[in-house]
Amino acid sequence: MQVIEAIRKSKDMVLSLEITPPNKGTSIDELFQTMDILMPFKPQFVNVTYHQPQVVYEEIDDIIYRIPKRKKPGTVGICASIANRYQIETVPHFICGGFSKYETEDALIDLHYLGIENLLALRGDPAMGERNFIPHRDGHRHASELIAQITSMNQGTYLEELDYATPTNFCIGVAGYPEKHFESPNFEKDMLNLKHKIDNGGHYVITQMFFDFEVYKAFVEKAREIGITVPIIPGIKPLSTMRQLASIPRYFHVSIPNDFVEAMEGARTKEQVRKAGLAKTTELCRKLIDFGVPGLHVYTMGKGGATGALLQELFG
Ligand code: FAD
Repeated sequence: MQVIEAIRKSKDMVLSLEITPPNKGTSIDELFQTMDILMPFKPQFVNVTYHQPQVVYEEIDDIIYRIPKRKKPGTVGICASIANRYQIETVPHFICGGFSKYETEDALIDLHYLGIENLLALRGDPAMGERNFIPHRDGHRHASELIAQITSMNQGTYLEELDYATPTNFCIGVAGYPEKHFESPNFEKDMLNLKHKIDNGGHYVITQMFFDFEVYKAFVEKAREIGITVPIIPGIKPLSTMRQLASIPRYFHVSIPNDFVEAMEGARTKEQVRKAGLAKTTELCRKLIDFGVPGLHVYTMGKGGATGALLQELFG
């Protein structure tokens, strides 16, 4: 089922979980263990992230080779495997970075043949070792361009003129940033870019993680004001360690409000820190549910424990 259809049909909200493929060479078993912990909470969708290949330069016999290394391969394989094992819809993340438009088209055809109906369309992070995002020479610079290509295929228009081309049927999710995307000069401009993604065919928004209900509320209000009418699903990261208080703002360019920080800093043991972080995350989710959000999207980062404890508090 498409995410947008599930949102329309559901009386309550939809629950999606985001997981990251294991590092190359690592068994998928750990991922299954995480899924086993989380499946009792009946998620409707599992999102699987995609990461640009890392490019390394290796000198072999005096010749320098440019070698692409996929640090986290297998997004599509993991989607198929999880869909098979748990009978659940999977949502592969689909990025601009590293792909030409033709490679994008071929990858979309593969997903269509596999029966995958949902995608989260993203520009993607800069490649490993790069400071800025560098698009493929024949690829897309912004997610909005990728979304336009997917929408064209949904209308049966491929890059080359094809007789009897079959339209694809992808439901397209897009990313939104309640605290603005870190590269954007200001919130207004970032919101207009978000609107552009929806105008090009995005069906719903999943937000970057945030920790303040008012930030989400203001984001939704601004979106509605500029004509974005699609569902906006909040992205939730359960906080459970002191280390996250520094690492999450650094990596994700988001802020953690004082009430979260004080509750966690006031705890004495690791277990108390975990309880305090999860209690604040639960409080945030309850406010969102009372507000009538269309869903919750939980960033598990492959760890079932904290997500499981949060979902137990909310729905157990
Ligand atoms: P865009 O929408 O293209 O925006 C990127 C920047 O460009 C923004 O500052 C925007 O304001 C600006 N911009 C957009 N259009 C224009 C324009 N026409 N002219 C000028 N500026 C413009 N990354 C991964 O690599 N893999 C993943 O699996 C992944 N999953 C994610 C899941 C979610 C829910 C979220 C919120 C993020 C995820 N990311 C992932 C991170 C994401 O790829 C990065 O945040 C990336 O830097 C931006 O992606 P985007 O799709 O929002 O880009």
